[in-house]
Amino acid sequence: MSVLEIRDLHVTVETDAGTTPILNGVNLTMRTGETHAIMGPNGSGKSTLAYTIAGHPKYTVTSGSITLDGEDVLEMSVDERARAGLFLAMQYPVEIPGVTVTNFLRTAKTALDGEAPSIRQWTKDVKQSMTNLRMDPKFAQRNVNEGFSGGEKKRHEILQLEVLKPKIAVLDETDSGLDVDALKIVSEGVNRAKADTNLGVLLITHYTRILRYIRPDFVHVVVAGKIVEEGGAELADRLEDEGYDRFLDPAAPIE
Ligand code: ADP
Ligand code: MG
Ligand code: MG
Repeated sequence: MSVLEIRDLHVTVETDAGTTPILNGVNLTMRTGETHAIMGPNGSGKSTLAYTIAGHPKYTVTSGSITLDGEDVLEMSVDERARAGLFLAMQYPVEIPGVTVTNFLRTAKTALDGEAPSIRQWTKDVKQSMTNLRMDPKFAQRNVNEGFSGGEKKRHEILQLEVLKPKIAVLDETDSGLDVDALKIVSEGVNRAKADTNLGVLLITHYTRILRYIRPDFVHVVVAGKIVEEGGAELADRLEDEGYDRFLDPAAPIE
């Protein structure tokens, strides 16, 4: 079992207006095998949390800590975070000209394991995962993110998850822009990874829709850079009915 611990995390971002505080003391403990949903209104800091875990250079941790099994994640390079078992979907959002999906996955796997996977088994695994995700085999020969549709990007994300087998995955708005069929396929992929490898999932979402397919064990509501309420799956059901209005002070709009 692995534990990701976020303690009193304060994060700022540099904007034209200067240094802006975004996260104002976030606390969260999650273990492999658990699914945690981070929910909240737009602009509350959900993606900032994901980018901070990912090590995006735009976000500065001013105090607090993130550890994985006691190891200081904030001291790790982006690659070291991946090797430690963190999967951050936004880590490679860019087009990688001339690098096919299949080569990209193999390079990533080799970097993670410190040795190249056996070709025969690897080819079989990738094929199987692509079949699971109902992906056209031709997709493997396309260049990473080049002309990918929103749905293809999400499936590519889950394909990475399936073949790289991380300990903990941070998925930010994985549901956005997916129709119901694609949402089901993507959710099945996440659920398969949970069942097969005891994956821990930090599922960041504004909407409750995906939580019908990936049931969270814990729900945390983030407003203005802080967790303001926590509960089980029933909290997500409540938010589906009520929205975020009761968390928002009309005198002080978040955005
Ligand atoms: P959420 O994902 O919950 O919608 P974000 O983390 O994207 O929220 O944003 C939280 C706040 O921080 C917003 O007010 C947003 O404008 C600001 N912010 C986040 N990232 C940046 C950035 N790179 N540059 C400027 N402002 C940012
Ligand atoms: Mg947003
Ligand atoms: Mg966001």
